[in-house]
Amino acid sequence: MATNRTFTMIKPDAVENGHTGAILEKINAAGFRIVAMKKTQMTQRDAETFYGVHSERPFFGELVAFMTRGPIIAAILEKDNAVEDFRTLIGATNPAEAAEGTIRQLYATSIGENAVHGSDSDENAAIEGAFHFSGREMF
Ligand code: UDP
Repeated sequence: MATNRTFTMIKPDAVENGHTGAILEKINAAGFRIVAMKKTQMTQRDAETFYGVHSERPFFGELVAFMTRGPIIAAILEKDNAVEDFRTLIGATNPAEAAEGTIRQLYATSIGENAVHGSDSDENAAIEGAFHFSGREMF
């Protein structure tokens, strides 16, 4: 069943580089409502679990080190067609291939340090949202 929620993280690179406010502004301007949001830092175990699907990929160690090196902003967002529309807003994984005006084209520095996460399916949006938030933190 399609849902109207997605999950995002503003990743450590974008937080370090001072892009949190600009990225939240773009998310707001695109019509997403904030259901839940917090600043937090992933532990090694968190990152290994969250990105478990990539555990056999050559970049896995680097990805876990990157995602744990500083704070992130985690959020659940709501909008019609949230998952697909948010993926459009953030752009391709590799910022060199991301469309003009997308968050990754504007704020990412490399394919690994690419500023934001966006869930790739309704099922993963629910799993990832529940990974970071309890029901009482969602409004
Ligand atoms: N990633 C990486 N190297 C790659 C591909 C991906 O470091 O060659 C990282 C990058 O941070 C990416 C994350 O792993 O956002 C998850 O990869 P995925 O293919 O799921 O891309 P996404 O769904 O985030 O666009």
